[in-house]
Amino acid sequence: MTRLPSLVFLLTSLFLYTAGPTAAQDAKRAFSAKGTPTAHQPASIGAHAKGCVAGAVALPESGPTWQAMRLSRNHYWGHPATVEFIEQLSRAATQVGWNGLYVGDIGQARGGPVQGHASHQSGLDVDIWLLPPGRLDLSRAEREKISSINVRAPNQKQVNGNWTRAHERILEAAARDPRVNRIFITPPVKLKMCAEAPKRDRAWLGKIRPWWGHNEHFHVRLNCPKGERGCEDPAPLPAGDGCAEAVWWVTEALEPPDPNAPKPVAKPPLQVADLPPQCASVLSAR
Ligand SMILES: [Zn+2]
Repeated sequence: MTRLPSLVFLLTSLFLYTAGPTAAQDAKRAFSAKGTPTAHQPASIGAHAKGCVAGAVALPESGPTWQAMRLSRNHYWGHPATVEFIEQLSRAATQVGWNGLYVGDIGQARGGPVQGHASHQSGLDVDIWLLPPGRLDLSRAEREKISSINVRAPNQKQVNGNWTRAHERILEAAARDPRVNRIFITPPVKLKMCAEAPKRDRAWLGKIRPWWGHNEHFHVRLNCPKGERGCEDPAPLPAGDGCAEAVWWVTEALEPPDPNAPKPVAKPPLQVADLPPQCASVLSAR
């Protein structure tokens, strides 16, 4: 008697597992197993934190003004619009005296949930290292070993000596780009930029968003490419430069957590069926 339910469960899971990609299937595992993009017309599907990408392209691992880092992860795939943006921003970096940019994770060949990130799913997110590139001819092995730099002081309220005016200008150039939806960066950088930006013409500053982590890289999120109906833009940003709100991050956010507060409940891992239905086709395409 007691064995029967577990047998039923086993058979059901077996059925769901073999029934195809739309059935209960861990999305992170399923998408990470696909190392190559689909031959579809490029399209971002769904949202940055619940989506996938068709017809992705690889950022060439080295270019005149960039290198992709940590190639072993195979996270250098994105929407062609993202790859174009990265190449252009890396050229812009040469105008502030950098050799270009070291580029971290974009996404998987077909997008979907990625190890180590909540977003980066629809081919429109990219992490860019805060380490100014020394050489742009690093070997693959060197790119596995080398680390970025931290720009946050130990008190987490200020930037440290690694943060420079050149960093600021690169972030500003990115934020002024109409293709950019928002940029995530450690809160002290946001406050520093708020203090230094001129009084007028600060609308771009609203796109610089303070967030946890992001003290060794900044994260650029692009808007949906024009005309892509299957792509969901994130909720609009609040109006204004976001400077007054940013103070919370270096005050209340740093206070010790209330020991009596309820523990946050871990979200169950995304299943393929949680993503837009087109993502099941992206996953199963040859
Ligand atoms: Zn990121």
